[in-house]
Amino acid sequence: MRQLLDEAAKGGYGVGAFNVNNMEQIQAIMEAAKQTTSPVIIQASRGARSYAQDRYLYHLILAASELYPEIPLAMHLDHGNSFETCKSAIELGFTSVMMDGSLKPDGKTPASFEENVEVTRKVVDFAHERGITVEGEIGVLGGIEDGHGAGGSGLEHVTDPDQAVEFAEKTGVDALAIAIGTSHGAYKFSKKPDGSVLKMDILIAIHNRLPKTHLVMHGSSSVPKDLQDVVNQYGGKLKETWGVPVEEIQLGIRNGVRKINVDTDNRLAITGAIRKVLWETPEKFDPRDYLKPAREAMQKVVALRMTQFGQAGHAGDYKPISIAEIARGYADGTLSTKPLVAN
Ligand SMILES: [Zn+2]
Repeated sequence: MRQLLDEAAKGGYGVGAFNVNNMEQIQAIMEAAKQTTSPVIIQASRGARSYAQDRYLYHLILAASELYPEIPLAMHLDHGNSFETCKSAIELGFTSVMMDGSLKPDGKTPASFEENVEVTRKVVDFAHERGITVEGEIGVLGGIEDGHGAGGSGLEHVTDPDQAVEFAEKTGVDALAIAIGTSHGAYKFSKKPDGSVLKMDILIAIHNRLPKTHLVMHGSSSVPKDLQDVVNQYGGKLKETWGVPVEEIQLGIRNGVRKINVDTDNRLAITGAIRKVLWETPEKFDPRDYLKPAREAMQKVVALRMTQFGQAGHAGDYKPISIAEIARGYADGTLSTKPLVAN
């Protein structure tokens, strides 16, 4: 993932990181990447690893890399809760991990700054020796997803720019997730977000202090009304909600955001497509009759995001570097883990 993010920084674009739990979601992402010629990050949370059994996910993503050799692809652990979780992901074959030390290992209670630095540093040391990328988190995101999260609106633990600098210096992370008022899940904002709830000014302040650090936006589904409408039109009961507008994500990309996590939009697309088939043709019972439209609906959303984030067209810009070469880069200092700090 480090290479994908370094290349994205060079090209001035962002890379979507899409969550998966099953084969159809992986297929949708890879077809969208092919359609738009995009490098891509596929990520699995702890919830996904237990739902699918992570060896299934590993082999499905391995199949994706064989079927689409022209697409630079990283397999990333989303929200690792402990050193052990990250270690097991690396041993399984993930090429990138997130150590979310902003929370204690229970995945709910905010951790102290010192605890966060300590566990993240430990993961960085273990991972870099093996050529694996590490994303850390400073500040605490809102909401709860798959049982992970502190809850709340996301404004309780917004990232402090000074702490972000100290955290990047002390841990050597490759990418830094920050909390700017976004939360996980569908219910992010009760109206179209403005600067009082979505703190883009903090993101820009962090980027100005850490101009070379790859920033990560979590909870960044846009939750568009058309996707909510399809679900509700065919019997769903979603309450009205707002996500992160694409233009705010694009502002982030102009200010150091290189990885954008999207899950909810794809969940909505899949559920809407399945509901539509079952509603309109209740006599159908072959899962392929609704999984195929579901896969196509997700592909459409992913391809759109790839275009909006700017990664479209960049799959052929570079040759993927092997994990062994990346490990050598960390060892000999070619791949810097010392952030450039501006005052
Ligand atoms: Zn997240």
